[in-house]
Amino acid sequence: MSALGVRARRRADVAIEGEPHLANRRRTVSVDVGGVRIGSRHPVAVQSMTNTDTADADATALQVAALAHAGSEMVRVTVNNDAAARAVPEIVRKLRDLGVGVPVIGDFHYNGHKLLVEFPDMGRALDKYRINPGNVGTKHRDANFQTIVRVAIENDKPVRIGVNWGSLDQDLLTSLMDENAASADPRDSRDVLIEAMVQSAMRSAELAEETGVGHDRIILSAKVSGVQDLVDVYRRLAPLSDYPLHLGLTEAGMGTKGIVASTAGLAILLAEGIGDTIRVSLTPAPGGDRTEEVAVAQQVLQSLGLRAFAPQVSACPGCGRTTSVFFQQMAERIQGYIREQMPAWRPRYPGVEEMRVAVMGCVVNGPGESRHADIGISLPGTFEEPIAPVYVDGQLRTTLRGEGLVDDFIAILDDYVARRYAPGGAATAEGA
Ligand code: SF4
Repeated sequence: MSALGVRARRRADVAIEGEPHLANRRRTVSVDVGGVRIGSRHPVAVQSMTNTDTADADATALQVAALAHAGSEMVRVTVNNDAAARAVPEIVRKLRDLGVGVPVIGDFHYNGHKLLVEFPDMGRALDKYRINPGNVGTKHRDANFQTIVRVAIENDKPVRIGVNWGSLDQDLLTSLMDENAASADPRDSRDVLIEAMVQSAMRSAELAEETGVGHDRIILSAKVSGVQDLVDVYRRLAPLSDYPLHLGLTEAGMGTKGIVASTAGLAILLAEGIGDTIRVSLTPAPGGDRTEEVAVAQQVLQSLGLRAFAPQVSACPGCGRTTSVFFQQMAERIQGYIREQMPAWRPRYPGVEEMRVAVMGCVVNGPGESRHADIGISLPGTFEEPIAPVYVDGQLRTTLRGEGLVDDFIAILDDYVARRYAPGGAATAEGA
């Protein structure tokens, strides 16, 4: 193996023009995953993973389709045994029959080298293989790793070398720990663990390239479950190569904790230009909706101004000036209306996902916020005169009154969207 990082340290000689929001992206080569391009010249891609039994082709195909429909641009399925391997081509066939073209990625641990050889149709049907270098066996680790890589080369598929702190290469970790203990100025064990993750990813990438895989067919990840650890490991990994990086906090957890922890870690790195594809690993509540992880990933990217997926509704939190529930009901209705319309609006009105809507509870901050949005409404507060000014493109358009003011606002919103975002329509909805 060549010296760590020497070959991988080649820089992508690319300029990102016309995309100011990408200006600080760490430069990478582009990797094609079943038609989705991953790297710094492309938007940060959202991906997700199924939690169905892959051997159940119907259930898995339906969940992949649901994740794709929610906006997942790649979907990973576990391929953990013969039955799962046998089901993969069927899953992909069912998806294509449904008109779902999303790339499907195989997640391999322990037996990937065997399954990919024994089930060649499975290897051909997948769009990318995820290899965990800590989980390819102990005795013949490099040989097993190279077997997977050779199948990827034969099938012209990219690979993700996905290191995970829970299944880190124990030989490498032990040797680094020993080396550290013997040094004159030993570092703390967390630091050595991070170093082991980075080295595991880089050494495996070098071995993959030595085996013959193209430099632009490798994506790296190094997942941990602590936010600060995630930031540190990726900050250390990022300057060593120009491979695209897959970001995600592993075992993020359930509900608010999982969402907040994932967002905190991803946001710091993405704001520094690190990361080319993300996954939010939420544990759904029993019977919960798997697609929530896609919505959260999209919201992270949209909140950072990296991508736009759906119109953003800014609603004030409400306070003592909004003592009735009317304001909450109105904010909910407008948000729900926009969400319902998006499947129809998206193809008809290009750019509508960038629309900003303000729904404010009173005239203290309402008119100001509304003026800064594309379209906004400000309700009267409890003791204010019962009128609701509506601003369109920064100008007071009208003032609504009475019971039907939410319906009236929705009619103005519909009119605005049709005028502003119809192909060939006005750049702004002046006069709408
Ligand atoms: S805009 Fe009005 S109702 Fe909303 S939080 Fe501010 S003061 Fe309260």
